[in-house]
Amino acid sequence: MPFVSKRVQGIPPYLFSVIDEKKKRLQAKGMDIIDLGIGAPDLPTPDFIVKRLTKELADPLNFKYSGYAGCQEFREAVAAFYKNYYEVDLDPNTEVLTLIGSKEGIAHIIPAMIDPGDVVLIPDPGYPVYRTAAYLSGGECIDLPLIPDQNYRPDYKQVSDQHKEQAKLMFLNYPGNPTAATVGIDVLEEAVRFAKDHEIGIVHDAAYNLVTFDGYKAPSILQVPGAKDVAVEFGSLSKSFNMTGWRIGYVVGNKEIIRALSIVKSNTDTSQFLPIQKAAAEALTSDYSTVDQNNRIYQERREKMVEALQKIGIAVEKPRGSFFIWAPVPKGYSSQGFAEKLLEEAGVVITPGNAFGPSGEGYFRISLTVPSERLTEAVERIKALQLEVNAHVPDS
Ligand SMILES: *Cc1c(COP(=O)(O)O)cnc(C)c1O
Repeated sequence: MPFVSKRVQGIPPYLFSVIDEKKKRLQAKGMDIIDLGIGAPDLPTPDFIVKRLTKELADPLNFKYSGYAGCQEFREAVAAFYKNYYEVDLDPNTEVLTLIGSKEGIAHIIPAMIDPGDVVLIPDPGYPVYRTAAYLSGGECIDLPLIPDQNYRPDYKQVSDQHKEQAKLMFLNYPGNPTAATVGIDVLEEAVRFAKDHEIGIVHDAAYNLVTFDGYKAPSILQVPGAKDVAVEFGSLSKSFNMTGWRIGYVVGNKEIIRALSIVKSNTDTSQFLPIQKAAAEALTSDYSTVDQNNRIYQERREKMVEALQKIGIAVEKPRGSFFIWAPVPKGYSSQGFAEKLLEEAGVVITPGNAFGPSGEGYFRISLTVPSERLTEAVERIKALQLEVNAHVPDS
């Protein structure tokens, strides 16, 4: 492959591909597959946002390049959201930057913060993009283990002293994908302390900041006093306003990091289409009733799925955030083995936990982003597998 860099050739094979191929084979044979592996909302973007987009499309001035940092209205809407929702003050000109989806920001912030060979702490298990993007920027990825029994808070004790000193960047993600873990502000306070002690920049990925249940409100890392000295936070409209394909997100917090990212970005892209930014500003300055409506739907689906899993003996608690359920596989199965069994025998796709890092082995992820009837059907099929025999075998 003379035209493909060693870097790209070195990306480890995509772990979902085995399941994906199997899914396609079974579908070709006529099997009805329910895909609980997809991590994107099935619900539509709320009408008022689409209306604003349509209105902005009528103005030819909107067809020009956006400013590099994004349009003023969007950045001010992000700052207003932080003020209203978290009581955090942000300067829309220096502490907010528009992104073409938060994934874009995650990929570009790495070369803005590290040089090749620098150590990056990656939550394990975690969203796979952190690891691959850090690798593509020449970073050395070191696992930051999360503690399952303590809501997947990071276990800094397990990071060696050498890696603590070498690390320049640390990723965190609450509410978490894939773990659905939610934390109190204390966990973010501890992170800021750790980062200051070791001069590590924090990137907190808050993609699920508004997807929360049972009255739980996910904290922002910027609510920690002094967090702006070391941290930035990513947000996205993809999950909270069902806008995955629109590609709009933001980063807020530390000015120097944001400025460094804006330099990388201004040499890479020219921000998002103005009508999309303006429609997203409309979303962020709305009354959030559509977010509540979506959350009620996810919550109903969650009840259904958690109850079904508990019935077949899988130990799982109701998550307070994200639209995922993260659960241990029944005894006697690997993550991959369990995923293959569910696919072959029930026609249900789940994501094997090892796709999210070594500590994900022994777990699986279910996404609640399918229509409720399909979820009910999936639940019935899983129940019909009569897995309880395996789940209840005592240790001998
Ligand atoms: C979906 C997701 C993203 C990416 O969101 P976009 O803004 O659509 O790029 C980032 N982080 C996590 C953890 C996600 O699940």
